[in-house]
Parts: sequence; C-alpha cells; structure tokens
Amino acid sequence: MEKRSIIGDRFGRLVVINELPGGKAVCQCDCGKIHYVLRYNLLSGGTKSCGCLKSERAIMRDRMRYAQLEEGQRTNLAMLVCNHPVRGNPTGVKGVCKVRGKYRAYITYNRERHDLGLFKRLEDAVKARKDAEAAYYADILQRIKDREIWV
Ligand SMILES: [Zn+2]
Repeated sequence: MEKRSIIGDRFGRLVVINELPGGKAVCQCDCGKIHYVLRYNLLSGGTKSCGCLKSERAIMRDRMRYAQLEEGQRTNLAMLVCNHPVRGNPTGVKGVCKVRGKYRAYITYNRERHDLGLFKRLEDAVKARKDAEAAYYADILQRIKDREIWV
C-alpha cells in the first residue's frame, strides 16, 4: 500500500518539503529552520514546529512570571514609600517610632529591619529614613523602570 505523500502539507509552522525513507519528513519551519521529523509525529499533531514554538512559549511564560514578580515588588515598594501613618505608630511616619522620648528610624529591606539610629528630633529621624529609602531603593526603582519597557 502506497503511503500518501505529505509533501507540501503544513503542520503548524512546519511545511513538508521532502520525505525520506523510514517515515521521516524534511520540513521547513516558518522561522526558517530545516527540521527532520517523523511523519507520524506530524500526522498525530505531536510536532508543530522545529522547537521554536516551544521556546517562544517558555519565554512568554517567563515574561508572565517576571511581570507578576515585578508587580509584587512594585506593590511592596508602594507600601514602603507611602507616608500613611502606621497603626500603633505614634509618630505617624513610616519607619520612625518613638523610643523613650527619642525617635528611632529604621528601614525594612529584604525582610530585615535595619536600624538607622536614634534621633532627638523627629525631622532628623524622618530625614534619615528618607535618605535610607533613596539609598536602598533607588537601585530597585531604576530596575523596574528600565524593564517596564517590555514587561
Ligand atoms: Zn521554527
């Protein structure tokens, strides 16, 4: 029984340009690559590209994951730089709390609390906190900005 030729047929991104003995087919992928694949895999729908489709999907998946990660970071950052008073914090300034008549400034970075010092005046503590925000987060802010182009 003569097998039907599949030369010229399209399977996903692959177009068959030749058939070889042993059930193999030579395909031209839309991306330009020549790909050897078993005829069976084409007919069963198991193979639809030279592999570029798979890697493109992987890239898209990575981008999605990355976008979610960035979104999470942005949210944390928004919380961090917002100046809403924290409940139970009598100074009303995020990152500054009152300790025995003085003001302690701190910043949380990578889930670790970093002490920025003890200050007599509230405004000094606030300044220390602001400086620390700039130092700790300028780098992250810049990275988010740069990547927003394609996220
Ligand atoms: Zn391809």
